[in-house]
Order: sequence, then structure tokens, then C-alpha cells
Amino acid sequence: KLICSAETPSSDLIVIVRIRPLLDDDLAAGFPSAVFPYTANVGAITIHDLYNHPKGRPILKTFNYRVDDVYRPGATTEEIYDSKISNMVSLAWNGGIGTLFAYGQTGSGKTYTISRIQQLVSESLMESLEGQKHVSMSIIDLAGNSAFDLLNSRQPISILEDSRGITQWTGAKEYPVQEKNEVMGLIEQAASFRRTAPTLKNPVSSRSHSICRIRIKDTSTEEQDGLLYLIDLAGSESARDRTEHSATQMREAREINTSLSVLKDCIRGKVESLVQKTGPNFKQNQPSHIPFRRSTITRILKHVFDPSSNLQCKTVVVACVNPSLADVGPTKNTLRYAEMLR
Ligand code: ADP
Ligand code: MG
Repeated sequence: KLICSAETPSSDLIVIVRIRPLLDDDLAAGFPSAVFPYTANVGAITIHDLYNHPKGRPILKTFNYRVDDVYRPGATTEEIYDSKISNMVSLAWNGGIGTLFAYGQTGSGKTYTISRIQQLVSESLMESLEGQKHVSMSIIDLAGNSAFDLLNSRQPISILEDSRGITQWTGAKEYPVQEKNEVMGLIEQAASFRRTAPTLKNPVSSRSHSICRIRIKDTSTEEQDGLLYLIDLAGSESARDRTEHSATQMREAREINTSLSVLKDCIRGKVESLVQKTGPNFKQNQPSHIPFRRSTITRILKHVFDPSSNLQCKTVVVACVNPSLADVGPTKNTLRYAEMLR
């Protein structure tokens, strides 16, 4: 249950890696697994990459990374939820902000992970629902600087800052929910609009960030609403790795890469400013350099990154990887990104 527990304080940022299983297609392609987590060393992960030496046998090169925890192909989403996400849901239930990002190249398991977590979150919230708590939900899609309402036929919406500097999703529908089935219905509706976006030849899911926002209002207090953001990020493969090369597609790819890089800077900026605040060298009025204005996704999440806000926040980043040797390049990029966040 979500009633506030006197939990031991844990880090406000958790970065984990989830390795998906090799699928039939991966196995048929004949590549072995190249990603190896350690059993005895929590959070450590190694990549084995092969280099074809021009005059000899392939050379094995290893690359090591460290994050907070690594989930193997056999791990279930429930395990991840129970150990890393449920705290964040409790925080939001009690007026804080929880933010979950799924990061990784297309095909690495982001949507798989986020959809299952959406289910587990809605079960947990709906089981705890009682008189004075009201839960509502919006789901939008961000492509470049444009935002669309996935709960309203992908109608365009505007992202505006109000006079208090709070970002508003103007025009996005927000549905009150009282039962798990209602939540799941909305999530399915959003997923189907995302899959069938009419203007794009390729599945839109790889080129847009989808943001599910769950608001938890406690009508018995004047406190700030609790918020949960469950975010399925656009595929992180670099413009260079993409197979399509039309001008629009290249621009899209560059925009995605920029927004993911700004996101990293904002997550890091928040961590660093909190370290400064509590560390010995804290200076009052230290200017913060968190560049949340540089991309739409970070503008939307400004209050998550603002170190001067008194809101309690927890952030979890799940870096998803396909273990196949065929994808070792993008996997190295994902692990490098994950490692840089901490
Ligand atoms: P992404 O959203 O990153 O592009 P998907 O979530 O669509 O990737 O996953 C790609 C494929 O891998 C899908 O067929 C999905 O069902 C499968 N998959 C991903 N993660 C897992 C997992 N942990 N267990 C089993 N299958 C998975
Ligand atoms: Mg996806």
C-alpha cells in the first residue's frame, strides 16, 4: 500500500540497465550475446566487442560500465518495480514528483518496460484510492517542438509557461480515473494513436517521446498535487546509425539526439546542484546552469530539474539494451549515457 512509510532515505536518482532477452530474430541472425552483467558486483556490466583485424583473427575488446543496478534478461518488470519504482510511486502519492525515463535505441525494450510499469503503477494507485484522493491522467507525444494529445486523436497541443513559471499542457485532456480498467483503457488508446500516427511512414514510436502524466490530488489538503511522469523516450540511435536518410528524417534524428543530450545535462545539473547545496562549498544564490529551456521535454519537466524548488523528487532512468553483438555500437552509447548520469 502507498501510505507514507518512514522509508530509509534513498538516492533521488537511480540509474539502472535492463538487458532484454535475445528474440527469435536476433537468434536467427546468428549473433551471440555481447553484454555481460556481473553477479558479485552490483551495477557493473561489461561489453565484449569484436574487431576484425585486417590481417588476422578478430580481436576481443572489453568495455566496462557502472550504474546502480543491472537487470538480466530473465528479470521481470515486477522485480524492477518493487525494488526501484514503488518508492517513487509512494512519493507521488504523498505530494512529491516521481519521474521514470526509459532510454535506449529502438528495439531495446523501452515500450515493453514502460507499458508494464504503467500497469503496475495503476494497480497500485487504484488499490490505494480512497475518498479524498483524486487521480487523473494525460498522455502526450513530443516530436521535435510539437506536442500531441494521445488521448484526443493526436490533436496538437501547446506547451506554455504560466505567470508562475509552471509549464501547462494547454489543450491536453486530463481524465479522472477511478478503476484500473479505466487507466488501462486510456493507456491502450494512447498506444494505438502512437502506433498509427498518420503522417509518418515509419512507426512514430521511435521518433517521439511519449509522456504519461498521472496527477494525484489530495482534496483534504492545500498541498501541491503529487505527479508521476512515465516517459518512453525516442530511440537514442544516432543520426549516423539510422537507415533512412531523407532531410526530414535526419533533422528529426538530430533533434532527438539534442533533446536526449539536454536531458542528460538537466539530470546531471540537478544532481550536482544538490550536492553543492548539502556539500561544504555551498554558496547561497549560486546561479544554476540547468539548461531546461534548450529542449521541449526538459521545459515540460522544468519543475523536476529546478534545484530551488522545494518539491520532493525521485527520478529513475531505465537504460534498455539489446544484448546482441549486432547492436553492440548503440549499446555502448546507451551504457555511456547511463554512466554519465550518475
Ligand atoms: P523499443 O520501445 O525500445 O523500441 P520494444 O519495447 O518495442 O522496444 O521491444 C522490442 C521487442 O522486444 C518487442 O517485440 C518486445 O516485445 C521485446 N521485448 C522487449 N523487452 C523484453 C523483455 N524484457 N522480455 C521479453 N521481450 C521483450
Ligand atoms: Mg517503443
